Amino acid sequence: MEELKLSTAFPKANDYQRGPIPIIECTEEIPCNPCETVCPKGAIKVGNPITNQPTIDFSQCTGCGTCIAKCPGLAIYILHLNYNEKEALITFPFEYLPLPQKGQTISLVNRLGESVCVGRVVKVINHDLYDHTALISATFSKEHYENVVSMKRLDKE
Ligand code: SF4
Ligand code: SF4
Repeated sequence: MEELKLSTAFPKANDYQRGPIPIIECTEEIPCNPCETVCPKGAIKVGNPITNQPTIDFSQCTGCGTCIAKCPGLAIYILHLNYNEKEALITFPFEYLPLPQKGQTISLVNRLGESVCVGRVVKVINHDLYDHTALISATFSKEHYENVVSMKRLDKE
C-alpha cells in the first residue's frame, strides 16, 4: 500500500472529495498506454517513452469509467468515497462468470483476494465495446475504502 501511495497516479487525500475518481494501480514500467489514448478528456498521460507510469489530472476527469474496461492489466477502478453518508461506491472490471445481478449482496475483496466486507451491487455493465470486461458497481461501508478493489468470484463462494 505504501508503494502504491507513492505511485505517480495515486490520489492524494483531497482528491477523494472530488466525487468518483479513477484509482490507477499501475506501478510497473510496461509498454502500455490504452488508458491514455481512450480517455476522452485527456486526463491520463503516459507520454514518451511508453513505459512511463501513467499520471492523471483529476481536475480533467469526469469519472466516466471508459479507462477501466480498456486497461489490459485490469489496473483501474473508480471509487466514489462519499457516495452517501455511510457508503462508498466502487466500479471495477470483472471478467469471471457468472456475473452478479443488480441488488445482489457480494463479498468485496482486497488486493490479495481476501474478503474485506459485503457489498451491494447497484449496476452491471456488460457492453460489447468492452470486449467481455464487465463493469460492476457496488456500495460498501466507506471505512474500507483503502482496501476494497474487487469482488470474490461467485463460483468460488
Ligand atoms: S474516468 Fe473517463 S475521464 Fe476519467 S480518466 Fe478515465 S476515461 Fe478519462
Ligand atoms: S492501460 Fe492499464 S496497464 Fe496500461 S499503462 Fe494504463 S493503467 Fe497501466
